[in-house]
Amino acid sequence: SSRVAEKWVKTTCGYCSVGCGMLVGVKDDKAVAVRGNPEHPVNRGKLCPKGLSEHHILTAPGRAKTPLLRKNGTLTPVSWDEALDTMVERFAGVQQKYGADALGVVGTGQLLTEEFYTLGKLVQLGFRSRSYDGNTTLCMASAVSGYKLSFGSDGPPGSYADMETADVVMLIGANIADNHPILCHRLERDAERTLIVVDPRVTKTAMMADLHLAVKPRSDIALLNGMAHVLIRDGLIDSTYISQYTDGFHQYKEFVAEYTPERVAALTGLSEETIVRVARLYGKARAAFIGWTMGVNHSTQGAVTVAAINNLALITGNIGRAGASPFSITGQCNAMGTRESGFTSSLPGYRKFEKQADREELARLWGLDVERIPTARGLAYPDIIEAAVAGKVKALWFIATNPAVSFPNYSVLEQALRSVDFLVVQDGFHPTPTSDFADLVLPAAIWGEKEGTYTNSERRVSKVNRVVAAPGEARADFDIFLDLAERLGVREELYPGWTTTHDAYKEWQRVSAGRLCDYSGISWEQIEEESGVQWGGARLYEDGVFRHEGGRAKLYNVPCEPFVEQPTSEYPYVLNTGRTVEHWHTRTKTAKVQLLDTMAPYAWLEMNPVDARRLQLKPHDRVSVISRRGSVKNLELRITGIVAPGQVFMPFHFAETNSNLVTLGAFDPISREPNFKQCAVLVERF
Ligand code: SF4
Repeated sequence: SSRVAEKWVKTTCGYCSVGCGMLVGVKDDKAVAVRGNPEHPVNRGKLCPKGLSEHHILTAPGRAKTPLLRKNGTLTPVSWDEALDTMVERFAGVQQKYGADALGVVGTGQLLTEEFYTLGKLVQLGFRSRSYDGNTTLCMASAVSGYKLSFGSDGPPGSYADMETADVVMLIGANIADNHPILCHRLERDAERTLIVVDPRVTKTAMMADLHLAVKPRSDIALLNGMAHVLIRDGLIDSTYISQYTDGFHQYKEFVAEYTPERVAALTGLSEETIVRVARLYGKARAAFIGWTMGVNHSTQGAVTVAAINNLALITGNIGRAGASPFSITGQCNAMGTRESGFTSSLPGYRKFEKQADREELARLWGLDVERIPTARGLAYPDIIEAAVAGKVKALWFIATNPAVSFPNYSVLEQALRSVDFLVVQDGFHPTPTSDFADLVLPAAIWGEKEGTYTNSERRVSKVNRVVAAPGEARADFDIFLDLAERLGVREELYPGWTTTHDAYKEWQRVSAGRLCDYSGISWEQIEEESGVQWGGARLYEDGVFRHEGGRAKLYNVPCEPFVEQPTSEYPYVLNTGRTVEHWHTRTKTAKVQLLDTMAPYAWLEMNPVDARRLQLKPHDRVSVISRRGSVKNLELRITGIVAPGQVFMPFHFAETNSNLVTLGAFDPISREPNFKQCAVLVERF
């Protein structure tokens, strides 16, 4: 009874992009319980294990509570004044000596939209560095780029409700049962719906499917082109939609003519019959939905794979209608809010750096000289890391992200962290594998300790509320940004009269007004009342008018290329990485929630029985995974048919057995997203 809550605070889960509504119970100023919000349109009262235990994070050990500055090699507690004065002084020193872009900043989809919007202005207009990106480049940049290629703008066209309405749902590289568990309720058994799952691995989601297509790694493009081939050949396309709303069909038709079922069967490992069957299922559907996540995005061909998915939707008119959408299921709780409020791959409100009219409009809205607004995107996240290794970026500032575990090819990342003159890590927790390298640690408030909004995958803007006070001297990221602006002398210019995140939200409403991601009519009050409001309504592009000049969508020819690092006799296995339901990304939080840590305390390696027999390995043997770049030692071996022969899988959450010691530093040329998914490895007994 001592745990009975005195009050319940309505808020939104801070883990994944499903964006479940929840109530956090508070007693004696402590969070003591969580329950799903039964009135919430997304989760209807349900929560997954991470959500159900989220209150524990507010009393978890290991919080950063005071600023720490490295003095004589040791991180030493200092006042906020000393911390921020030093930061501004050291950044200025680096920028004076090496140029404005020598300051690299990486933000995160963990921030509130109001904070990310504030940070973008601070970095690009205050510090005047263009070396700025979000950790979202590690997860959904390919979806952003793919939408821009096809439709002329980012913005997922559909809603979660479309998964229910569709009669064919195809999930590609999306293990929602582990990564977006509450979405599975949208796919509960329904004789009217066919669920197709495309994944090289027999994931929990694949087990839910009517049809699981266990394609060869990275052959999804071949499958998509092969489906288009059959759809066109069999007349299962929407010729009216194609001629009214798209460009490029003639060349696309010629291009996919070469992707015959026979050729696609060889590329994917599927039978010709299966390819024809899946194409016909998709083509004959009343409404077809394609959802994808990291299996598509985490690739050097991620952006164009998204375009290949969009092609299918466009030629069959499966977009802008109930149940019909190509839909990127995002990763982090606020990946969407960060990509909209911008200054990373786009200017705020999906405006383009290179478009004079867009820059002028922003300058007018902000009362700034247009010359202040950058005319091109600066360095993306991987390029900031490369520039640090090359000695061009000399100061780094990471905010609520943990690259020492999450960035591919750890040895290069470590060089970057060691090369810079000044490294600032702003996080709710310390130590973390990244903050261990820091010259300055800034303690930040986390989810549950601050107020603002997140936007989920279906463009639903939700309120996140303050449940308890931040511990020690930890401060909201927003307050840290304003304090830095003050020290730079730009606070009144960039943030006139602002004191709260609501001030930032009000400006963001004005700045987004009239854009595709228009927040102007969505007040905080309305969000609270309706448990979230979708910008753009339930569906985009209902009128068939897209965002390219001329208003037409574009069909792209996307060739299927072999993935970068093919297996050899020396490194004979293809390593795939992914997630497990209990954990969130690098476990900065979830390792500290006892329940979750107990459920999944360490990583493992999945290997097919055929390969295990050949290597004379038994279940639970300890093994090492070795690539050309490094090795992960002492993993538990799980021998299972979940993975195909020649492939192995390990979860990427665990710092102790960091999969990024072996992954590849190869990036999508368009989105700059890393190819986390396939690299060639050797497996040995530990
Ligand atoms: Fe939170 Fe995602 Fe789980 Fe919902 S599904 S409770 S948003 S982690």
